Amino acid sequence: MQKVNTISFYPGPSKIDDKLPLYLAEACRIGILSANHRSKPFMELYQQTEALFKEKMNLPRGYHLYFVSSATECWQVIAQSYYGMSALHVFNGAFGEKWYQTAAKINPSVKPMYFSLNKTLSINKLAANILSDESLICITQNETSNGTQVSAGTLKHIRSRFPKSLIAIDATSSMGGIVLPWQAADIWYASVQKCFGLPSGLGLLILSEKARKKAIQLTHNQYYNSIINLISNRENWQTTHTPNVLNIYLLNQIVKNRPPIENISRALKKRAEYLYDFLHKNKYKILATNAHTHSKTVIAVKYNDISTLKENAQNAGIILGNGYGKWKENTFRIANFPAITDEEFNRLYAFLFQA
Ligand SMILES: *Cc1c(COP(=O)(O)O)cnc(C)c1O
Repeated sequence: MQKVNTISFYPGPSKIDDKLPLYLAEACRIGILSANHRSKPFMELYQQTEALFKEKMNLPRGYHLYFVSSATECWQVIAQSYYGMSALHVFNGAFGEKWYQTAAKINPSVKPMYFSLNKTLSINKLAANILSDESLICITQNETSNGTQVSAGTLKHIRSRFPKSLIAIDATSSMGGIVLPWQAADIWYASVQKCFGLPSGLGLLILSEKARKKAIQLTHNQYYNSIINLISNRENWQTTHTPNVLNIYLLNQIVKNRPPIENISRALKKRAEYLYDFLHKNKYKILATNAHTHSKTVIAVKYNDISTLKENAQNAGIILGNGYGKWKENTFRIANFPAITDEEFNRLYAFLFQA
């Protein structure tokens, strides 16, 4: 294969962290890749990685980290493990909808609530759609397909309005990039090829004590990746299967060596602000018109002749993200992830300025 000498602004898989060669060499050197996943070195790696999430990402006490294979797997794991609960899926884009469709095949009583791309999520509408106080409420925090987000403030309101419900959040393209209001939800998940700047093939699932208790109470344990089995394995700092140890090690090193999440979040938000402003000044149109909903980590821009733009970008050594789902033909996307440097963004601005 030829070396790809371009900067990727694709929102997943995305540009890998510049320090990865070091961490990869270290992973080989220290022998962790040959260690059995029921042995002490792996157990220490797991325990340390969760501790780092508490230290660097402010994961609160009582929240535990579990390793799965992908965010997509979490759609299935959550639907199977909380089977029998009344569930409401709230979304405005393709990933939220796919999550809903996956859950609906497992549990036909799951309900969708679609909200408009240009509106903020209405809590009153949510209240009107919810069937039980003790529902499972499923929300995509950062909708990668259309560049919108549900704000921390809205998530906190939902939490206080529905204190008995379990709230599950897809934060696949924001976890590791922005400060998340952990306590506003019980179930969080992501995969590592977005804001963590790692190769694909590892999913992260985070559960509050309430989420764990509910899974145990429901007793659905028929699948290897049922939440009950994730919980019992974690009690020994182990996983249900031979996991992606390399990626877990790389994640550990990324979280350990990057600044605390507040700092990362501040820098990304500043860059997002600059980028939106730049796009506006240069007559680019953001897909979502309501600035309150604009994502900090994935920017979706309307454009007519996508194929020419992408080709010109490629010639300038830049890979723009395709549009996604129903916005595939008329948008391009820009990842504002921590692994992408400000110098690389300067190259993007120079390209977009003359395009
Ligand atoms: C990328 C993405 C997924 C899917 O992630 P996989 O690692 O491919 O399973 C799910 N939800 C959102 C919001 C995403 O951005």
